[in-house]
This record gives sequence, C-alpha cells and structure tokens, in this order.
Amino acid sequence: METEVSLELQRLSQQLQQSWKIVRTPRMKAILKIQDIACDAMRSYLRSEGFIELLPPIIGPVTDPGIRGAKQVTFDYYGREYKVMSSAILYKQAAMSGLGKIFFMSPNVRLEPIDSAFTGRHLVEFVQLDLEIAEATYFDAMSVAERLLCEAVNTVRDTCQSELEYLNRNLPRLTPPFKKLTYDETLEYLRVNGVKMRYGIEIPWDAEQLLSKLVGEPFFIIDYPRGARGFYDREDEKRPGILRDFDLIYPEGYGECASGAEREHRYEKVLARMKETGEDPRKYSWYLEMLREGIPPSAGFGIGIERLTRYLCGLEYVWEARLCPKLAGIHSP
Ligand code: ASP
Ligand code: MG
Repeated sequence: METEVSLELQRLSQQLQQSWKIVRTPRMKAILKIQDIACDAMRSYLRSEGFIELLPPIIGPVTDPGIRGAKQVTFDYYGREYKVMSSAILYKQAAMSGLGKIFFMSPNVRLEPIDSAFTGRHLVEFVQLDLEIAEATYFDAMSVAERLLCEAVNTVRDTCQSELEYLNRNLPRLTPPFKKLTYDETLEYLRVNGVKMRYGIEIPWDAEQLLSKLVGEPFFIIDYPRGARGFYDREDEKRPGILRDFDLIYPEGYGECASGAEREHRYEKVLARMKETGEDPRKYSWYLEMLREGIPPSAGFGIGIERLTRYLCGLEYVWEARLCPKLAGIHSP
C-alpha cells in the first residue's frame, strides 16, 4: 500500500513538474475562461445584492482551526508565531461588523494529509469566495449560496458554449431552491445505501462522494452535531448538540461545494467552545476582545473556486483548475 502511494505520488509529481507549461494548452485555456466567467457572474450577483468585496488579509496571529484534519502554516513574524490564513472566517466577522454584507476572494493554505493528493478534490493552496451577512440566519445564507451557484452555472452555460463543448461537458441548468437533508437524515440515507457511519463526526470524503453521486442534484446537509465543526458554528439553543450550519454538495460525485453557518458570536459561549475544541483562547486575544465588545449576529459561507471550476468543467481532478497547483506531499513549481 505504502509503495503504491509513493509510486502514485511520483507519477503525479512528474506530471506537475511542468505545470507551468500546461497553461499553454487549449484545454487549460477553456478551463480558465470558464473560471473567469463564473467569478465575474458571482461578483456581479453579490454586488447587485448589496455585498461589498474587500481585499482579504492573508496572514495573522490566528486562523481558522476548523479545517477537517489539515494543518495550518506557521511562520516567524518578527519574533512571533503567525499563520497563513486557512480561511478568513475571523476577519469576515470583523468586516461584517462594520459593513453588513461582505465578501473576499480569499487565498487559503491548508497542509492537507498526503492521501488527499489522490481524492481529486483537494489542493493545499486554493481560493474561496468567502462571505458574511450581518443579522442573517443560516437559512438566509443557504438562500444566497444556492442563488450564487445557479448564477455561476447558468451564466457559464449561456456564455461558454464552445468551451463546454471542447471539454465535452454537459452542464445542467440549475434552479433554486435546493433540497435540504439534516445530518441525521444523511446518516440514515447512507445506512440504507450500505454505508455505516458513527454519529458525531464529519462525513468522510468517500461517503460524501457517494451521496453526491446518489442524490442527483445539488443539495444541502444541515445541522451537523457539535463535535464535527469549529467553535464558530452556532449551537441551536432549542436543540442542544445541534449546530445551525450546512454544507452544500454538488451532484455527479463532485462532493463539497460550500460550508457555512450561523455564528456563535457571544464571548462566553465562544470561550467555552474554544476550550471544548482544544483551542488556546490566549492565542485569539484580538478576536475575543472584539467579541467581548460585541458584534452583530451573522451567517456566511465559503465556496471553493477551484472545486466550482471542477464541477463546471466536469474535471476529474481539481488541480486542473489552477495555475501551478500545489498538492499534498508534492514539490512542484
Ligand atoms: N470557514 C468556513 C470554511 O472555510 C466557511 C464558513 O463557515 O464560512 O470552510
Ligand atoms: Mg468545508
């Protein structure tokens, strides 16, 4: 098994050594054109809904700890330990408190486990459209997420016919609203389809991929149990142990599209959740000070741009959607 993995890594590594050349191929040109059109469509849609785009901070004393087993990048910043953003969650909440509806096109880095190099949907360096809405519920956020995805898909369908044809991609038109399955219903659905999963954990990649194949259209998984997510997803007061959060899943086996939630923004509760999830509150001093002074409640989500491109273009590997991609365990340009 180990030698299989290292052979596979070697093969991928050889292929990616020349990634700087791939951009010259007509295939890459079609993919990047579609990505550009999708980003433009999403930006226009969000602006028309009153969102403002901000330039994302990409380094800071702390970053998002809720990254599904990946590691953060730490570096020395004039004698202090700093992080490269694994997501802009903490800064999104700060920005929302001043501006109401905001988004970043945010570069994120996550040191994913080595075996993620072969899932076809993990990158170490990626970009997400990361947004936050003041005074919103997670249902409000889901409604923005589904309309945003429809906007991207339908605009690409309408304006990139020749590129889609070149890629041999038959991209179905989408209309909101999307189905919502609770975490509990999802586990039951998996069980009926022969996959047993322990309650309380994140849904593993292979189970998520199976769901994504079976359901046949984009859908939300909502209400994850408390142990499965970061300290900032808000717990439902009436249903202790259940978080007011969601993942949006692509059809056709492409897996996760977006993750989002209503935020726990109350100082005492966040402190307790940090302790519960093993975070050292002293590291989050600026964030906790902000919460102690008080920020509005909010909800938001992040949608990975390369995964979106993978779905739009029907690509086997997410790394095809990126100039000089970085994959776990591979040293490439
Ligand atoms: N921070 C989450 C992530 O990067 C997204 C969100 O909850 O807004 O997955
Ligand atoms: Mg996620």
